[in-house]
Amino acid sequence: MAFDYDLFVIGGGSGGVRAARVAAQEGARVALAEEDRYGGTCVIRGCVPKKLMVFASEYAGMVEDAQAYGWDIQHGAFDWDIFRGKLYNELDRLENVYRGLLKNSGVDSFDQRARLADPHTVELADGTKKTAKHILLAMGGRPIKPGVPGEELGITSNDIFHLAKLPESILIVGGGYIACEFAGILNGMGVEVTQYYRGAQILRGFDEEARGLVSDEMRQRGVNLHVGTNIVEMKQDGDKIRVLATNGEEALFDHVMFATGRVPNSEDMGLTEIGIELGRKGEVVVDDYGQTGVPSVYAVGDVTDRVNLTPVAIREGMAFVETVFKGNPTKPDHDLIPTAIFTQPEMGTVGLSEEDAREQELIEVYATSFKPMQQSFAGRSERVLMKLVVSQATRKVLGCHIVAPGAGEMIQLAGIAVKMGATKEDFDRTVAVHPTMSEELVTMKTPVRTG
Ligand code: NDP
Repeated sequence: MAFDYDLFVIGGGSGGVRAARVAAQEGARVALAEEDRYGGTCVIRGCVPKKLMVFASEYAGMVEDAQAYGWDIQHGAFDWDIFRGKLYNELDRLENVYRGLLKNSGVDSFDQRARLADPHTVELADGTKKTAKHILLAMGGRPIKPGVPGEELGITSNDIFHLAKLPESILIVGGGYIACEFAGILNGMGVEVTQYYRGAQILRGFDEEARGLVSDEMRQRGVNLHVGTNIVEMKQDGDKIRVLATNGEEALFDHVMFATGRVPNSEDMGLTEIGIELGRKGEVVVDDYGQTGVPSVYAVGDVTDRVNLTPVAIREGMAFVETVFKGNPTKPDHDLIPTAIFTQPEMGTVGLSEEDAREQELIEVYATSFKPMQQSFAGRSERVLMKLVVSQATRKVLGCHIVAPGAGEMIQLAGIAVKMGATKEDFDRTVAVHPTMSEELVTMKTPVRTG
């Protein structure tokens, strides 16, 4: 049977665009459908605008530091309108880059929703049907609200970039990446930030010492963080939102932002109808190669809810092209993925937390926490953390955890060594770069804990 295309990709985010482009470069006839903006969550409503907001929010503290270093420089106001206008322009530019990448690779794009009609047929919103030898599901995910009374009054991270004006106060609900990053951003921009997290400590799953330091520093910088706290109900009260919390407190906020997790965009896609299995959260179930139970259909990225990070989706897209279009079956490697959380201070991490490593084997822990030179000179009391978790048996560094300004940049490089299987002695053999914060990673001599 002759198909219209060799590959039809549904979803123009990081994973889908990469797979479409690379497959087309291999000579495949490729189409892609996207119902919203090209670039997906990362570019349009995630990593990119978030990181630009992190940068914007950090300038307030820089003025104080510059004064401490002798600069005659005064605080000014932050103009959300100016920043938001520039942000929109930048996102438009990036969306065009994504569209251009597809066009220049010869991919046909359809600016509409698509769903599966059968294992080889995609039906577009306008009723057109296109057949393809392979179909790649790359629809990503979206934020969800937790189901509390009045939650329709709240916003999610999708809305935060579009606020007409910066609020005076905000309640952020959740303790994951998104909640903690936006708590820091909005606090830096001068918003009074309250954060409710239902558990005992934010950033569940990460190294305990590292998350402890991040939460201490967030509080120190002015985030009003309440752990063991959730919303009971919320109601409109004039132009504010009145929130009743599980700790019995009632308070008014201009906005409430839910950062209580994300779900895969898999509904109403015709998936289960053709025999594709969905998991409990609605994630598309795939094997190690990204193939669903229907052999012509594969899936990559957040819609599979494995490791929900842009660079991972991109790698899954590349592995899919290797497997299907280059005859080289390739499993995406989900082991030892370095990642950064753009809290203030940042956290960079790769490998096992101290707690997870100890469950597995006997370890040595090397850690140091100190006031970094630049901030300390400026009179700040903030501390950073450099930490290595080492296997006693193999001497390999099982985990590296950094809480410090620039930790994201540092962990990218430390991640190479850890991925290569570097031992503690390999770290020790490396000469320190002085004076830096990260030199501590190669100068720690005595374990702080063993066993
Ligand atoms: P996460 O799953 O990381 O965090 C969700 C948070 O909401 C958790 O603290 C969770 O608590 C809490 N929560 C869940 N349900 C409820 C509820 N019913 N009531 C109250 N609290 C609730 O999701 P995020 O939305 O923060 O981020 C989604 C994913 O996006 C991340 O896992 C990450 O993969 C990716 N991401 C990556 C970034 C980066 O690389 N820097 C930045 C932003 C996102 P509990 O811990 O108790 O379950």
